[in-house]
Amino acid sequence: RLVPVGLFAGLAAAAAILLLARRQTSMAAALRAGLRRDEFVLLYQPLFDLRAGACVGAEALLRWRRPTGELIGPDLFIPVAEQSGLITRVTARVLELVERDAGGYLARHPEFHIGINLAPADLRSHAIVDAIDTFLARTGARPANLIVEITERGFLDLDSARTVIAALRGRGIEVAIDDFGTGYSSLSYLETLDLDFLKIDRSFIEAIGTDAPTSQVVGHIMAMARTLDLRMIAEGVESEAQAAFLRTHDVHYAQGWLFGKPMPFADAAWLASSARRPSVQAGAA
Ligand code: C2E
Ligand code: MG
Ligand code: MG
Ligand code: MG
Repeated sequence: RLVPVGLFAGLAAAAAILLLARRQTSMAAALRAGLRRDEFVLLYQPLFDLRAGACVGAEALLRWRRPTGELIGPDLFIPVAEQSGLITRVTARVLELVERDAGGYLARHPEFHIGINLAPADLRSHAIVDAIDTFLARTGARPANLIVEITERGFLDLDSARTVIAALRGRGIEVAIDDFGTGYSSLSYLETLDLDFLKIDRSFIEAIGTDAPTSQVVGHIMAMARTLDLRMIAEGVESEAQAAFLRTHDVHYAQGWLFGKPMPFADAAWLASSARRPSVQAGAA
């Protein structure tokens, strides 16, 4: 009696796996078509200097606009792009989109920082450095305009990551560890990498001011950043209380709904230029 049940359960599981694999294959095909048909768009989330209370840049966040009009978030399609080997083409498209949206602005505003998310696969070849060089040459943006964001997964192949990071930083591009604290971060390998920023993951920011054990981790993360001499960016800041806490703990930059949701580039640029107006920025000459 038990045998058929186990058999059916096994068959059902196999069918589910097959279905998932089929769905991934068809999504990969749709991604490929989407790249061809220019279906990807970027939104830009404002990056704020906590002390100055001013917008100093933005992070480019990818969206996939399907022909049906549906807007798909990166958490759904980036993993498929990674598994199907399309991710380096997606990253190339991101650079093209940043050039289209922000190239001229960056050339005129050397102080504006644009954050670009790289995938682990991007760090496995020098091609990404060439692509960024091309981006800089075509736009007239400066290396200091760019913050490249890498998750801890990108350090799995440490030697090649190190090579790419050194090439980028050698040009004056700043490098951030993204989603910090969600992967396996060990001081021992972080100490061997030269980086600029540590982005504290939203899950830790959420815990600030609560009794949850996670809230204590924020303190450890901040101590780690100081030990490694990294500046900090907090992600997912939603409340004034969180911002105040971060400010008193010398966190330099923050992103989150408190400051702005991902928006068209022109709106983020407007935020940055309105912050520079003397009436807003106290003490400006
Ligand atoms: P991330 O780089 O950590 O980006 C932050 C994510 O948190 C974004 O989600 C953003 O919309 C969301 N977020 C920001 N502030 C708040 C807040 O105050 N509250 C809440 N609840 N959420 C907030 P999004 O745009 O869905 O991106 C998800 C992830 O997808 C990104 O995480 C990044 O890892 C990846 N991603 C996005 N764009 C790209 C890309 O161009 N290339 C690659 N490789 N990955 C990308
Ligand atoms: Mg990021
Ligand atoms: Mg992040
Ligand atoms: Mg995150």
